[in-house]
This record gives sequence, structure tokens and C-alpha cells, in this order.
Amino acid sequence: IPDLAYAESLIAETPDYPEPGVLFRDISPLLADPRAMRATFEALVEPFRGEFDVVGGIEARGFLLAGYVAAVEGVGMLPIRKAGKLPRPAAAVSYALEYGTATIEAPGVLWPGARVLLVDDVLATGGTIAAAREIITQLGATVAGAAVILELDGLGGRAVAGDLHTVFTA
Ligand code: IMP
Repeated sequence: IPDLAYAESLIAETPDYPEPGVLFRDISPLLADPRAMRATFEALVEPFRGEFDVVGGIEARGFLLAGYVAAVEGVGMLPIRKAGKLPRPAAAVSYALEYGTATIEAPGVLWPGARVLLVDDVLATGGTIAAAREIITQLGATVAGAAVILELDGLGGRAVAGDLHTVFTA
């Protein structure tokens, strides 16, 4: 099997987690397999090569992607964090989740106009990526693009998240 098809087959599905009616996708088995992980991460970053200065990872699984992208592309990393984890957040945005609400924050470490590629594992309703875009704008930087491993189709997330690159769709 080609590496990407193999990688897709490793994404696990758990019904009724974390709430009844939600089918949760878990990329842990994909991360545990070096061939699947490399193929997926390379496909994630491919369209944006040379077009960004910083990779913005959304806590927590986005950090795993951002660390790889930063190392491979030779760029810096911006951790976009859940509220309350940063001593001096420079930007904060609240938004609705597929289940519940959330606030994300970021440190003021970017220079004006820095081009940021946003990465996360799963796109559901699109609220998280939309909020991350707003965080980057609040910081005075620019969004070079947004990429997720898995887009959940049928939740309208793409319209909310804006222009987006996805490796897999379910
Ligand atoms: P959204 O804001 O509704 O698009 O939700 C996306 C955020 O919730 C991302 O940070 C994901 O990590 C997380 N998320 C939503 N659904 C899933 C899922 O099925 N598996 C893993 N993460 C999910």
C-alpha cells in the first residue's frame, strides 16, 4: 500500500467520545508508525514549502505536527495554547467547539508581518482554526496558510476555517 493510504488506515475511530453522538478520530496509531507519520507530515507541509517563517501549532496535538515541521523546514514555532497556560499572553480569542467552548492564547514573540503556517490534527466545525487565524492577526503577523491532517466533512468546518489544506477527509 502507498504510505499515505496506509497512514489513513491507521486513524482510529471511537464512537460516543468524548460525548454521546461524537465519533472521535485518534491519530495516535499513525504517529506511532514512522512510515505513516513521515508520509502524513510531509503531505501536510508540502504546499507551503518556502512560504512561511513560523509554524503555529495548536495545543495539544498541533504541537506534535509543529515540532516536526519546524525541524524539517528550518523555521521557528509558535505554541498556540489553551487559556491559562502562558504567563503573559499577548493575544486571546474565545470560540465555540464541536463540544463546549474554548479560549486560546499566544505569546508575543512574532515580528510584524511574520508569515505563519497554522497546523492541527483534526478540523471539525472550523472554530479552532478560525480562532487561531484571529490570534495571528492580533499578534500583528500574517497567516501563510492552514493545514490539518484530517478534515471531518459535513460539519461546515471548511467555510468557517477559511482556505485550508487537508491530507485526509472523512
Ligand atoms: P473545531 O474547532 O470544531 O474544528 O475542532 C477542532 C479541534 O478540536 C482541534 O483542535 C481538534 O484537535 C479537536 N477535535 C475535534 N474533533 C476531534 C476528533 O474527532 N479527534 C481529535 N480531535 C478532535
